[in-house]
This record gives sequence, C-alpha cells and structure tokens, in this order.
Amino acid sequence: MAELEALEFGKSDFVLLDEVNMEQFMENLKLRFEMGRIYTFIGEVVVSVNPYREMDIYGKEAISAYRGRELYENPPHLYAVADAAYKAMKRRAKDTCIVISGESGAGKTEASKYIMQYIAAITNPSQREEVESVKNVLLKSNCVLEAFGNAKTNRNDNSSRFGKYMDINFSFSGDPTGGHINNYLLEKVNEEQVGVHLIKRCVVCLQANSDQSSHRAVRTALKVIGFSEDEIESIYRVLATILLLGNIQFGTEEEIVQVEGDGEVVSHIAELTSTQPQQVEKALLFRTVATGGGDVIEKGHSEQEACFGREAFSKALYERLFGWIVGRINSVIEVKDYNPMLHGKNTVIGVLDIYGFEIFDNNSFEQFCINYCNEKLQQLFIELILRQEQEEYEREGVAWQHIEYFNNQIIVDLVEQNHKGILSMLDEACLSGGRVTDTVCLDSMSSRLAQHPHYTDRKLTPADKTMEFQKHFRIRHYAGDVTYSVEGFLDKNKDLLFQDFKRLMFNSTNPVLKDMWPDGGLSITEVTKRPQTAASLFKNSIVALVDKLSCKEPYYVRCVKPNEMKSPVLFDAARCQHQVAYLGLLENVRVRRAGFAYRQGYSRFLLRYKMTCEYTWPNHLMATDREAVEAIVTQHGFQDDVAYGHTKLFVRSPRSLFSLEQERAALI
Ligand code: ADP
Ligand code: MG
Repeated sequence: MAELEALEFGKSDFVLLDEVNMEQFMENLKLRFEMGRIYTFIGEVVVSVNPYREMDIYGKEAISAYRGRELYENPPHLYAVADAAYKAMKRRAKDTCIVISGESGAGKTEASKYIMQYIAAITNPSQREEVESVKNVLLKSNCVLEAFGNAKTNRNDNSSRFGKYMDINFSFSGDPTGGHINNYLLEKVNEEQVGVHLIKRCVVCLQANSDQSSHRAVRTALKVIGFSEDEIESIYRVLATILLLGNIQFGTEEEIVQVEGDGEVVSHIAELTSTQPQQVEKALLFRTVATGGGDVIEKGHSEQEACFGREAFSKALYERLFGWIVGRINSVIEVKDYNPMLHGKNTVIGVLDIYGFEIFDNNSFEQFCINYCNEKLQQLFIELILRQEQEEYEREGVAWQHIEYFNNQIIVDLVEQNHKGILSMLDEACLSGGRVTDTVCLDSMSSRLAQHPHYTDRKLTPADKTMEFQKHFRIRHYAGDVTYSVEGFLDKNKDLLFQDFKRLMFNSTNPVLKDMWPDGGLSITEVTKRPQTAASLFKNSIVALVDKLSCKEPYYVRCVKPNEMKSPVLFDAARCQHQVAYLGLLENVRVRRAGFAYRQGYSRFLLRYKMTCEYTWPNHLMATDREAVEAIVTQHGFQDDVAYGHTKLFVRSPRSLFSLEQERAALI
C-alpha cells in the first residue's frame, strides 16, 4: 500500500513532501526512479518517468489489484488513474478524459496503450462477442496509427504526429460500444528534408524484408479493423508513389522545364495511381491559375517551382492517406444504432496523447503550434481545476488559501485573437500575395505587438542583436521564454499544394484514391477565393479539441523522459528538472496542497459513514446533518483536516477518507 512504501521508496505522492520546492521534488523523483518506482502521484495526477526497460507491473495481478479500488489504496500507477476515470464514468455517468502529456519519447504512447489495455481488461466480464470485437478493433487501430503516423527508423525517430485523441464510448452497463479518433499532424516541412523524411517513413511502412513481423502485424491489423483487400492495396500504392516521386528529377532544355529520363517513372506513377501518364507529367510541370480578369490559364513551372510542387505533392499524399485511414477506422468504430431510450446514457472516456511544451535551440512553426496548443490545454487546466475549485470554496463559504496562479489567457489571445493575434497576422501575410517575406511579416508583427508584455521584438533586445537574431521573435509562454525563428513560417502556413495535383488524384479511376481527394473537383476560381491556411486549420482543430475536453472530468498523466540515451539507469537531473518546470508540476503540488482533495454533501457523507460512529448510528439526533458529520469527523480525529461548507464537507487529505473507508469496510 502507498503508505507502507513511503519511507523506503520516497514519497509516493509529491503532496507529502516536507516542503514544496524544486530541490525536494527532484530528489524524490530521482530516488523513486532509481528504486524502480516510475509512477508518483500529485493528488490524482500521475507523474511517470520512462523506465526504458520492461517493468513487471502491468500483468493480470496488477489489473485485479487496481480494479474498482480507490486511488489511494495502491501504489501510484496508470491503472489507478484509468480506474478512477472509469469509475467516475460508470458510477456517476460522467464523461471523463485522461490527458497524457510530455515530450517526444517520454512514454505517452506506451501509457495510452496500458490505459486502453486496462480498460479492455476490466470491461465485458461476460465476454459478449460484439463487445469483444469492438475492443479488438479499438486496440488494433492504435497499432495501425502508430505504424503510419510514427514509423521510426533506428536512428531517427522523428515523428510527425504530435497528438492523438481517442474517445471510447461506453454503454450504460460500462462496456465499450465504439469510439472516435482525432489526429493532430504536423509534418515537418523543411523543404529539403520533407522528401527524405517521408521516404524513410514509407520505406519503414513498406519494408517487407527486414521487418517482416511488424509489417505483417500492420496488414493483419488493417484486416481486423475491416479494410478491404482493395483498400489495403491502395494504401501500399500510395506509399510506393511517394517513394517514386523522390526519383523524379527536372531539367531545363531551351528554357523549357522537363521531367528527366525516359518517362518510365512517370508511367509507373500513373499506373500506381490509376491516372494517365500525360496528366501526371502535366501536373508536375504546369499549374492552372486564375488571372485577375477571371480568365484561367496554364503556366509552366520554373525548375525550382516544379521541385517545390513535387515535394508538396509527396507530403500531401502522405497526409491524405493518413487522414483517410483515420476516417476509415472511425467509420468502423463509430457507435451505430445506439438508442439512449433503450440502452441508457452513452458515456465517454477520452484519451489524449499529446506533446508537451517544446523548447529547442531552434524553434520554428511546428513548435509555435505545439506550444500554442499547450497554452490552450493549460487554460483548460486552469479553468477546470483552479478556477472552479476556488469558486466552489467561495460559494460554500470555506476559508481557503488563495493560490496565485498565472492566468495565461493573455498569451492565448496573443496567438489566436481574431485580427490581432499572431495567427491572424500570418494569414494576412499569406493572403496578401507573394511579395511578403518572413522578415517583412515579422516586422509588421513586431510593430503591432511592440507593447505586448509577452512578445519581444528583436529590436528590443540589443544584446542579442546578431545577424541570426534578426529573424526571431520571442514569446513569454507560461512555461518559459521561447525564441522562434520566423524563417519558413509563411511557406509552412500556406497550403503549398497546387490544385492541379488535387485534380489529378480526384480523376483517378481508383475509387479509394479519389475518395482521399474530394476537393480535387473544385474549380480553380473556387479555390482561389477561399484558401485554407495551415494556421487556421490548426487553430480550428485545437479549439475543437479543447471544446471536447472541457465538458469532461479530467485526469492527468505527466510523462518525463529521464535521459536522451534511452538508458534505464541514467537520471539526467538537468533534463528532468527542465521538464518538471514546463509541465508545471510544482505549481500543481502547491495547488493540491492548498486545496481540498475530497468534498461531499452532508447527507451523502452521513449515509455512507454513519455506521462508523456511535452518535450517528443508526440515526442521529442532532439538529442538522452538518453537526452529525462533525461528530463523525471528530470521533475519527481528523477535524484539523477538514472544512465545513454550507452544504458540503471538504476534506484536505484523501488519507483521512481512506481510513474512514477502511473502518467502514471492516464493519460491513
Ligand atoms: P512518446 O509517445 O512519449 O513519444 P513512447 O511511449 O513511444 O514515447 O515511448 C518511447 C519508448 O520508451 C518506447 O518505445 C519504450 O521503449 C520506452 N517506454 C516508454 N514507456 C515505457 C514503459 N512504461 N515501460 C517500458 N518501456 C517504456
Ligand atoms: Mg507517441
């Protein structure tokens, strides 16, 4: 039990530290990691340190130890959180979500898998076949998405996906009935790298020889989910097309840009995509443009434009493929024929696996997007945990220690506000034609945001005024200062893909491919009117995500990567401390200590615990339920650990309640 562990393995809950400071926090985290205790609570939050070795803590016994128990009855574990979320969902019919965050390699995806496995293990005790098949598809879909979204090569585990959100739907009886997946992709679009990066990934996906088993696992998973042979075949055709595009070279002869070679590669691409070779070649060399006067003309590419188009096409093929796979999975796992009148309320557990703050030496558009997303999540955290808590204390007339927390709304506004935010300014710059460069955009941004307390213009920091620094701006995020290089921002924000490629794919005679490119049917004039930028798409998806989360009861898993070497024994204190800081863990402990872990209405509390006190069993004779509750609390000696609100009892430490629970259990 958590209590018994306390001395030898450090504090199993950071709330129990003698003093809340970074030094003690890190000491405890390190000690526990070295003792093989990779999980530690902060109240209901689980902090996890990637062990980089197999741990014998996920087996059947562990599952039954956590099943249906209270959070504090067992040592900290993912299963404790999964069970808490499940219990809240089942007993109180609450929609819940588990937010798993941390940097790349910190163990988020593994954690989400264990959580899913736990939920799969504790549901459907009667083994009903239709429920088992839903569970199977949910688990398999993870495997497919990992394979396509994250394929890692040995040296380079550059993953393009930074977030995945999965809703699992439950029937009234608490069994999974289906789900829905949202993916958050941010392809690295450094122009020279994108091709190489994608090709590496496709090779991994296609690799039939060196990695037979995982390749077969993906094929099997696709089949189990319900992909048809034609669909699976089409998936591999798209991957092969991306590989072949990497072989296309352009040359200029007598001022005419051409595809080099004898046309074999182009024919091969046409064959794979079920299109005509002449059409493929045309899409590679020309673009259709709408002139100001409303005419539509065809314009030949320069060699550079052709290369750029080819890269954008590869990238889009990959993104469309991925998006299509997710859509297909969703259509299979979506809850069908659910009748609430018949089956009761349909509840949801959402599992979010998402990158935490990224602060690198060089930060670009991708980090900007990820960090914006984290500001939004932090705001949700503030909204759900801090503000609601403090408001409830006020409402109940309970004295509480006010926690100074920083409300990051101002930073969220800096990024996303209509017309005035950085995202809007980027869009403006992108829509105002080709002449606005990154640096011009930066200048305009800096002059408009000069007064903003969280934005620093390069001109305001003379010490940094090197040439390199001329292209940077800095945002004071809630997790710290991040300097972004503006280089490439505008290109990354524009939809780089010429409509001609979309039309090419839309005209494919392969219905699966055509299905991936529904917008290929639009005319060029329609497209020119309303282009979507990466920034606005991104913002919309994050706003939608936050909406989904905000109506759920949240649980948190915070993942820490102990070192860069994937070593099971190395605890790189500086790296860890950095993560603890930007995950906001210390603040989390402070809030937790200042607040009350549990609260319950007086009458419900009485109903549950009146048997543990002679003055209240079987019925109390006091004037109010509140007095009766006071009698119970006093008899058990934790009167210093509670506060009495107008309608509720507030208990500071969960341990008080735990001891009460034990006594109750002994009596029944
Ligand atoms: P992330 O999703 O945060 O990028 P992963 O979950 O993919 O990170 O973890 C990276 C690697 O770390 C895994 O491939 C695995 O080798 C190791 N790892 C992570 N969590 C665990 C764990 N709980 N037990 C054992 N190994 C783990
Ligand atoms: Mg991952």
